[in-house]
Amino acid sequence: MSETNDDFGYLRANWTAVRERVDAACRDAGRAPAEVSILPVSKTFGTDAIRAAVALGLHRFGENKVQEIREKAGPLADCGIEWVVIGHLQTNKAKDVARLASEVQSLDRLDLAEALDRRLQAEGRALEVLIQVKTSPEESKHGLPPDELPAFLAALRNLDTLRVRGLMTMAVNAEDPAPVRACFRLLRELRDRMTAQGHDLPRLSMGMSGDFPLAIAEGATEVRIGTAIFGRRA
Ligand SMILES: *Cc1c(COP(=O)(O)O)cnc(C)c1O
Repeated sequence: MSETNDDFGYLRANWTAVRERVDAACRDAGRAPAEVSILPVSKTFGTDAIRAAVALGLHRFGENKVQEIREKAGPLADCGIEWVVIGHLQTNKAKDVARLASEVQSLDRLDLAEALDRRLQAEGRALEVLIQVKTSPEESKHGLPPDELPAFLAALRNLDTLRVRGLMTMAVNAEDPAPVRACFRLLRELRDRMTAQGHDLPRLSMGMSGDFPLAIAEGATEVRIGTAIFGRRA
């Protein structure tokens, strides 16, 4: 394609390597590679890099700031991109999310859900949502406390524009794999418990560049990969 895309030749190599590592983690876990999809996380990277990723056939991208989606969506309007919000969301961003995003994976409280529902009704749209659960003790990690999940799921049933499809989490930062894996296991167990109570939660978004094999071993259906695809963030 164009010279601009040639500058991003490393993207193809990174993408291929990540897909191979995900497939290997699936086989190690006795799972079929088709069960686990990869959400490329393009936060902090510019529209040239994203355009090059689109040329590889990618069309869903995770961003953690709504402001960045606002800045990128216009210049990339011809690419047919689905923007996925994965970062902590302030309620006053609900309008932009309702307009620009196809999915939110960081839904973690009812006032945000209600604000999104109001804005989505005004736009005549619906959103796929995952509920972000706090499985790590770290202050810096957002998410719904696990014991609040049953009541939250019940309340979301009244909001027609939000299609709840599963759960998302960020594991604790740790060298030792055991506590990291415990976060992922907790999310899967919560999902299984809620499923037994009649909720339909097929998706588990968990695992990033540094810990995705553990997440796949614990049942991730989707891993969110930034650094291993796009490179180190500035
Ligand atoms: C940045 C980010 C990722 C990707 O992190 P990498 O370590 O770069 O793969 C995944 N999930 C969330 C919520 C993020 O903010």
